[in-house]
Amino acid sequence: MQLPESADRFRTDLLQWYHGAQRPLPWRTEPSLYRTVVSEFMLQQTQVKTMLSYFENWMHHFPDFQSLAKTPAENVLKQWEGLGYYSRARNLHKLAKAFVQLPQAPQSPDEWQALPGIGPYTAAAIASIAQNYPAAVVDGNVVRVLARLSDHTQSFNSNGQAVKAFTDAAQALLDRKNPGDYNQALMELGATICQKTKPLCETCPVQKHCLAQKNGSRYAASLPKIQRPPIQKIEIDRALILTQTTVLLHRIPDNATRLAGQYEIPSLEDLQLPRPSQKPHAVKTRGIANQRIKENLFLHGKPNQASTPHAHHWIQLDQLDQITLSGPHRKWLEQLLPAL
Ligand code: SF4
Repeated sequence: MQLPESADRFRTDLLQWYHGAQRPLPWRTEPSLYRTVVSEFMLQQTQVKTMLSYFENWMHHFPDFQSLAKTPAENVLKQWEGLGYYSRARNLHKLAKAFVQLPQAPQSPDEWQALPGIGPYTAAAIASIAQNYPAAVVDGNVVRVLARLSDHTQSFNSNGQAVKAFTDAAQALLDRKNPGDYNQALMELGATICQKTKPLCETCPVQKHCLAQKNGSRYAASLPKIQRPPIQKIEIDRALILTQTTVLLHRIPDNATRLAGQYEIPSLEDLQLPRPSQKPHAVKTRGIANQRIKENLFLHGKPNQASTPHAHHWIQLDQLDQITLSGPHRKWLEQLLPAL
């Protein structure tokens, strides 16, 4: 990668812009090691605007490592409900338990990576932002900015390959005196100015250092070149089975890799029920990564089995707030139940 000719000038322009334009996010206005750790966990896979209210709520319930460490796992998951990718909550909980046993906080990205849920990106982010350690972060936003700055036209097979390819350049360009602000500035630039499909080159604070914009912002938007995995279409039929006061829900086993311990509207397959001939009562669609998921919700009578099928539970409708429901399933129940 070709670094900006004047790396010093680039850093100065970037930081000057960041100090005036940064969003007043709660982990910046009131910084602490714990708040940085929590924000970095929540920001993995989730956009700032989605996680802000979760962050405030989390701080209300678990203001520090100690309070989080001593809370039972199901209560921790309950506060994460709706944010998705629940392994983050479980790992954050494990991290808090491990952290409170340490004689002192980890002091380098390598030490942070020894804790649960922390990979190279999160380790560099925490160590640089909260501890001023000179480690460059490289995520999708940073790859995008660096690829455009250097007009890097090589194609990558995956995001991971692109991250690896830019890691040395990112480290060389890092402002070693202000690594935390510099890292946040580069990510902020990627999130707000150097956007995926519409880079705002006209208002970009590092425009004069950028090679791609010399060919126009439409050309810049074509970088980086990363092959996307093919879209996978998935269709699931689900059964909404109600009595006057209860609803039948499936509890996902504790050893499941996704959504362990959470409740969901059961699938016809899990209940071993045939697909009804009538149209579904509601159809919901959503996308997760490269998956496009269509979920058909059928109103169904009680299953024939004499007892409730394994891992399925009748939950009182007025107790739904007490259990941890998968985020979309809670939304669907809130939409559908009042009209039934
Ligand atoms: S000039 Fe345009 S393409 Fe270059 S870094 Fe700025 S926003 Fe991105």
